[in-house]
Amino acid sequence: MEEQISTNNQSNSETSENLEPPHKKTKNKLSKERDRLESRLISVLSCVVCFDLPNGPIYQCQHGHLMCIGCFNHLLADGRLKSEQASCPSCRTEISSKNSSRNLAVEKAVSELPTNCQFCKEEFPRNEIPHHEKNECAQRPAFCTYKTLGCTWEGMWHQKEAHGKVCLFPQKTGLDLLESVTALAGNAIEEINRLNGLLKMLSYEKVAICDIQLCPSRTDDYIPKLYYETNRFTAFDQLWVMKAKVIGNEKSATRSLAYQLILKGKGVFELKYFLLKGPFGDAKIQAEVQRFEFRDDNKESEYHTLMLEGEGECNRLLAARTVNVRLMMFQVKK
Ligand SMILES: [Zn+2]
Ligand SMILES: [Zn+2]
Ligand SMILES: [Zn+2]
Ligand SMILES: [Zn+2]
Repeated sequence: MEEQISTNNQSNSETSENLEPPHKKTKNKLSKERDRLESRLISVLSCVVCFDLPNGPIYQCQHGHLMCIGCFNHLLADGRLKSEQASCPSCRTEISSKNSSRNLAVEKAVSELPTNCQFCKEEFPRNEIPHHEKNECAQRPAFCTYKTLGCTWEGMWHQKEAHGKVCLFPQKTGLDLLESVTALAGNAIEEINRLNGLLKMLSYEKVAICDIQLCPSRTDDYIPKLYYETNRFTAFDQLWVMKAKVIGNEKSATRSLAYQLILKGKGVFELKYFLLKGPFGDAKIQAEVQRFEFRDDNKESEYHTLMLEGEGECNRLLAARTVNVRLMMFQVKK
């Protein structure tokens, strides 16, 4: 043991490079070369718009320029908003969902390239990062086991056990916990009531289900603006139309869609209605009930923002040729 320490000391005090073991030298050289190759590959394979290497589908223009799915959808949505054919930012050739294809080889190569865990900063192949960050990383965010009872402790995963030993919540009495548990139950009851409200509407005497397709069109203003409109459809023996407009323009980073229901026929209709994903669409919509009284002097509802799940979902819808939704309409009985 002593002998080993003295050898170590000796080698530490030696500064000459020649004394480094030969296998260590080749290893260092190899890892440097690997780093250089990796950074060259990263610059070759990155998206021409955001210069990033995001996970997920990667598209290419007809000349092979690479774009990540987020940027690709954004470019198509830009084109739609400006009423122009979208083009590749590198070579200006037209891009569309028809003439551009995914590049699976690049997607696979990217998934093998290393990246750093956002919590512990250690390096892993990209395809292993989601599992590591979710299940393995010792520094991933953690909450107390008694969070639902009101403990607000947050920290890193490896600190959780130590907190568990000092957490006061397991010793609390039912009375102590009543307040936070009541608040939680309140939230759940609110959601149950909302869903029950939707279920009750299904028992209304007059219900209409219309699968409609919002198609892009242009206003005839001096600067034409993009809007969406459905064909006329029938519900409750009357004709209806839905329109939608984009909130935000080609310069905005975040966009949303707002929709309006219009009575084309005659009469008085007090309706509740909401939109859902259509059977032929894939929009991620959160159902939100609207209520409006349609009458001959007021045939157009106000605009309601379409509640979409997830960032980039609006661009994805704008990039698509049409937006397919299911409209549920319920006539309120006087
Ligand atoms: Zn990109
Ligand atoms: Zn190109
Ligand atoms: Zn980690
Ligand atoms: Zn706790």
